[in-house]
Order: sequence, then C-alpha cells, then structure tokens
Amino acid sequence: MKPLYPWQKESWQALQGLRARLPHAVLLMGAQGIGKLDLAFNFAQSLLCEKPLASGTACQECNSCRWFEQESHPDFRLIQPDALTAAEDGEEKAGGKKPSREISVDQIRDLSSFANLSAHCGGYRVVLVYPAEAMNNNAANSLLKTLEEPTDKLLFLLVTHKPQQLLPTILSRCLGFPVHTPTREAGVAWLKQLGVLNPEHALAQTGFAPLQALGWAESGEGAEERSILLNAIRQPAMLDALALADSLQRSVPVHVIHCLQQWCHDLASAKLAGQVRYFPDQTAELIKLAGGISTVALLRFQKELLEARRAAFHPLNPKLLMESLLLSYRQLFAA
Ligand SMILES: [Zn+2]
Repeated sequence: MKPLYPWQKESWQALQGLRARLPHAVLLMGAQGIGKLDLAFNFAQSLLCEKPLASGTACQECNSCRWFEQESHPDFRLIQPDALTAAEDGEEKAGGKKPSREISVDQIRDLSSFANLSAHCGGYRVVLVYPAEAMNNNAANSLLKTLEEPTDKLLFLLVTHKPQQLLPTILSRCLGFPVHTPTREAGVAWLKQLGVLNPEHALAQTGFAPLQALGWAESGEGAEERSILLNAIRQPAMLDALALADSLQRSVPVHVIHCLQQWCHDLASAKLAGQVRYFPDQTAELIKLAGGISTVALLRFQKELLEARRAAFHPLNPKLLMESLLLSYRQLFAA
C-alpha cells in the first residue's frame, strides 16, 4: 500500500479525529487524482491494525497489517468495478464479455454475509467502495438498505470524485468528508521529488491534481528518453556512451543532466546511508552499484554534472556534452 502523501497530514488528522465516535459510513470526496483512495486504504488499515502508531498510522508489522498488505484481511472488503480489478491484474480478455465498469447489485448483496458476521479479529470491519459513483441504481439501493440498518463496528468508506452522481439518500446516510486538492507548492514539491521534469506544467495540465500530473508526465513528453537513459545507466558495464548520446539527441540536455543528477544523488545516498530518494523502486540496485564506486570519484562527477547543467541551456554541441558526461559516468565504475 502507498504511504500517505505529504499533503494529506490535515486530512489524516481529521480522519483520526473520527475514531472516537466512528460513524457507520464516511464519504471521502474531492477532485480526481489527489490520493483519496490511498487515504481511504490507509485509514482502513489503521483501523484494523493491532498496534497503530501515535500518529494513528498502521504499524505495518502486526498480523493484521500483513493480511492487509497481502489483500487477504478477513475483516476488509474492497468493492470496485470488475474493470478496475481486471486492469490491476493486467488481464486482457481475448473475446468474451468486457469486464463491467459498474458496481453491481450482486457485489453489494455479497456483502450481507460479511456485514452480519462478527469481526474475525474482534475489532472493526471495513468495506471500501470505490468509486462510489460506479454503483448502478440497484447496487446503490441495496447499499442503502445496509446503511439504514447499521451494524456495530462495521464502517463503510465510500470514495468519489462525483458526489453529485450519488443518490441523495446515500449522501444523507454518510458523513461527508471533503478531501482538499493540495496547494500548487505541495504538488510541485512532490512531483519534483519523483523526478518529473516540468512539475508546474504537468500540474497545470491536470487541474492541480498531483497523481494525475504524475501519470501525465510519465506518459508524456520526454518519458521515452528518460527511460532509455535510466535503462542504460543501470547497467554501466554495458553502457555505450556514444550510442546512448545518439539516441538521446532529441532530449533537452538539461533534462538528461537533471536525471543523471538525481541518479547520482541516490548513488551517494545509497553508499553513505543505505537509502535513496528519487528512485525508491531501485534501492537494491543502487546500493549494489554504489558499492563498486569511490566516493571521491562520485563527488567529482557530481561536480561535473553541476557545471554541465549551468552550461546546458545553451550548449555549443549538445551531443558532445552528453557523450562526455556519459563517458565520465561509465568511468566511475571502471576502477
Ligand atoms: Zn499493524
């Protein structure tokens, strides 16, 4: 599960504030792409956790947390359209019926046995409905019946970015919990940390929703060159600096340098502290690579990158600059 996003501190505290007198249903609503679903997952896990931390966040260590991470917690149900489940599982059906984009009445009815049993672990049970507006009318009416006869210690978490599409009767049965769009600064800072090259632009393109902006940036401009670069620098022994500089010809030099800077930052951080910042999904690889280079040589290369960056806005010969930087990078691992 994804940790809370940096802009969700206040929402998190407000959700934790509900713990003392938990309602039967909470409707998290706000713009698309700001992390409402991840917030809901975190809240659900924290309610089920055996030893939540002082901040209320789940401990990530107890049995309950383990089950939750493995998506097998007996006291948790996720209700979402089959199309979403299929997309997550990477299933592509050849022929046959397309998975539904709606939440069906059967999916809600299947909950009745869950709703009537007592919790396996003696605590809460949580049902997460996402996106709530995907419930068709029958499903919504069926849910309404369950909400009208609430069960003790059973919480419904509904998540939506289209509350206007929900039945008014559903709305009136839920505690509305508005999740705010983060400030531009918070969004930019987060995207920058993930290596998005032009975070302001990406944010603006997506109505200031950081998760949307990240998706946009990853599929958008420069993404292909970035992945070519990352693939190559991951395997320095096989790196062909001249060929790589050639295939990066269409990239903006400053973007390439920026990416190299982040990579080297992580190499240094992996070497000195055993942790990374920009490429967390490649921590193990970075630690392994960092083991084979000298700190002094790495510092020297980082300085070279810094100087190149200053010149990179108007390089006389961008390809030559790339070649020379990539050769230096490869040299790091030659010793
Ligand atoms: Zn736990």
